[in-house]
Amino acid sequence: RPQIPPVHVNEQHTLPKSDEEEDISAAEISLLQKIVRKGLVENKHDIEVQRKDPTSPLYSIKSFEELRLKPDLLKGVYAMGFNAPSKIQETALPTLLADPPQNMIAQSQSGTGKTAAFVLAMLSRVDPKKDYPQVLCLSPTYELAIQTGEVAARMSQFCPEIKIRYAVRGEEVPRGSKLQEHIIIGTPGKVVDWGVKFRFLDLGKITVFVLDEADVMIATQGHQDQSFRIHKLLPRNCQMMFFSATYENDVMEFAEAIVSSPVIIRLKREEESLNNIKQYYVMCRNQDEKYSAIANIYGVVSIGQAIIFCHTRKTASWLAEKMSQDGHAVALLSGELTVEQRISVLDRFREGKERVLITTNVLSRGIDVEQVTIVVNYDLPIDLHRQPDCETYLHRIGRTGRFGKSGIAINLVDGFRIHQYPKAN
Ligand code: ADP
Repeated sequence: RPQIPPVHVNEQHTLPKSDEEEDISAAEISLLQKIVRKGLVENKHDIEVQRKDPTSPLYSIKSFEELRLKPDLLKGVYAMGFNAPSKIQETALPTLLADPPQNMIAQSQSGTGKTAAFVLAMLSRVDPKKDYPQVLCLSPTYELAIQTGEVAARMSQFCPEIKIRYAVRGEEVPRGSKLQEHIIIGTPGKVVDWGVKFRFLDLGKITVFVLDEADVMIATQGHQDQSFRIHKLLPRNCQMMFFSATYENDVMEFAEAIVSSPVIIRLKREEESLNNIKQYYVMCRNQDEKYSAIANIYGVVSIGQAIIFCHTRKTASWLAEKMSQDGHAVALLSGELTVEQRISVLDRFREGKERVLITTNVLSRGIDVEQVTIVVNYDLPIDLHRQPDCETYLHRIGRTGRFGKSGIAINLVDGFRIHQYPKAN
């Protein structure tokens, strides 16, 4: 097992600023998704590939053996329980491992196997006989860098000769020394310090450069400029790998500024189908009516589990407290919890220890709990301008009825004035 210096994940996570709205950063959501995810996200779409030279062959693999990896690395892949490549890995891996190296921009939803793909590429590109950094991976935050490092450590568990080092806050290097580890995984600020200011590593010797979670990266102040500073010092023939969960214009502009002549692969997001979800609403004149609606619903949740979404943290904790006082077993998940606390709440819910989970928007995306059959919107989602937020609504009710099961969504509608609604024919 490679010796990675221990780093402690005990830092206090930044609290959302206001009590009104949940203000969870893209990086936090991404981290939470990574930690609570238990396996691959399925996707039936075909991969879209764009490349400069359409005549150059593009391979796709159906097994990890076809990649001709070092046996100890293949052993590590199987030890992680990966039997066959995921959809994105089938297409990305042959290109990432090809000789001569090719640049790649890959985009697919979180959970589809991007990290595992580039970590495998990073590990197989290392020449352990050379004792200097050859592979550099930039992640947007400390916690995300640690997640990637842990995947690298597990995958290389049978390759003790490969050394990995974190370049994140809290890590120190004595002045004047040179790093000897082969792989550096870090945040842009620290890598600028180490590579540009103190020259602990020679960026001119990097052969593989990975930019992970590029969409989260550009959402973070200053990260884009620091990435450009690092990029400028990399050798011309350095292989560039760029990964993102989304494909917005600003992400693609960033990608194209960093990655020349890339093979671009995209896996479209699987649409959430609402066919098997029944949607209801209950008109409630005031909080009391909302509360009795909730209490009634609680009474009938005998199969499966329910998630209740509230607009503010204040409502969520008020509701959780009131329901507990009335003898209902409920769990509360909101933004003021640390990542560790959130995971433990979700784990308990997943194990069925509580049948009802009360939350704010933290949980509206990405996290699957199979047994959820009822989603309740205690408050209907609205955006910052207090307009209906349809996307969040779809994400929320999509938490139920997953994997082809049927689900129910119940909306508690309040603050209405009947005469404002257009008359139905
Ligand atoms: P992404 O980086 O796109 O979010 P990850 O690489 O983190 O996706 O993979 C998501 C989850 O699926 C992780 O739990 C990972 O261990 C698992 N996983 C990745 N590749 C495979 C595979 N080929 N077979 C089985 N599980 C996989």
